[in-house]
Amino acid sequence: MNNPRLSIDLRKIHHNTQRLVSLLNGKGISVTGVTKSFLGDPQIAHKMLHAGVTSLGDSRIENIERMRRSGINAQLILIRSPMLSQVERVVESVDISFNTEIIVLRALSTAAIKVGKTHKVLLMVELGDLREGILPIDVERTIAEVKKLKNLKFVGLGANLACRSGVKPDNRNMSELSNLCLRLIPQNTHSKYMISGGNSSNLNWAFSGDTVGQVNNLRLGEAILLGVEPLHRNPIEGLFTDAIRLIAEVIESKSKPSKPWGEFAQSAFGTAAKTKDQGDINQVIVAIGRQDVDPCGLVPPSDIDIIGMSSDHLILNTRGKKPTVGTELVFQLNYSAVLRAMTSPHVSKEFFESGESNLYQNQTMPNAA
Ligand SMILES: *Cc1c(COP(=O)(O)O)cnc(C)c1O
Repeated sequence: MNNPRLSIDLRKIHHNTQRLVSLLNGKGISVTGVTKSFLGDPQIAHKMLHAGVTSLGDSRIENIERMRRSGINAQLILIRSPMLSQVERVVESVDISFNTEIIVLRALSTAAIKVGKTHKVLLMVELGDLREGILPIDVERTIAEVKKLKNLKFVGLGANLACRSGVKPDNRNMSELSNLCLRLIPQNTHSKYMISGGNSSNLNWAFSGDTVGQVNNLRLGEAILLGVEPLHRNPIEGLFTDAIRLIAEVIESKSKPSKPWGEFAQSAFGTAAKTKDQGDINQVIVAIGRQDVDPCGLVPPSDIDIIGMSSDHLILNTRGKKPTVGTELVFQLNYSAVLRAMTSPHVSKEFFESGESNLYQNQTMPNAA
């Protein structure tokens, strides 16, 4: 087994997906499984599809091409506005792309005409988080322009909140999206359009008991993989929070002073925090570093504290215990830690399916840095 490695329990991912799909279906909402955090790995993508997601969404064309090559023929959505330099690849592999720029839409139309395909487009609306989106006042005009472009089909409206500025999806901004739909999409055809309200941070709003209005789709990554809602990182009832774990290996284990000595300047990553003298401690080094994972997003085993991290070394105070060199330690991860670990060439991935008897281990994850 290669260390460090991500240990990925496909059964728990299946369970989490199925549960979210069924809860949201009860509200008339379909789920797009978001695959970007695991580079579109086909094994995880297949699990999401088996568990009932109606489409897969990714922000990177490479990941979508990888899923296509692996034989996935489900509806694939590019959830980031296409780069002008990639429109040919987009019309080739993507069914629906999310868009905000007319110049890109024109290029998509030209590329689609060239290969004789119809490319579907969903327009993203800015609702206040100030990331991607067309200002509400410009949406009507943009829809009209899309409808004039050959080989493009307007298939819906969407929005994204909470990612850049932390603006919460709530009844006010979600009604704004619904009201745009009511105004701009003919009433009797609403069900034919995708009204994609947002990401995992929309779950609190969706489950709040009020109406979800015209929203009939959510795009979920973090909630499926980590079993938490991203606004407060609280575990979602009935979901596993430990479907993905990180395993790394001890390479040094010694009793050492807790206080460094010598004269101090900056460390490799800025000024190190002042350390309190606690006498000698059991200090352990694990072979993983900032190159592989976001240290702020790691949860160590109980009774172990993370006391430092550099490019290639994670330093722990193991308190009463003294793990031997070669010991494997298991960590839980938050979203930012998963993202980096999944994309590090030094972290391998191990897939398995746990048995029925596995217990829930719900534990609150640390907040994003
Ligand atoms: C990443 C992303 C998502 C998924 O977000 P999660 O919080 O992981 O559910 C949804 N929509 C867009 C546009 C994204 O970029």
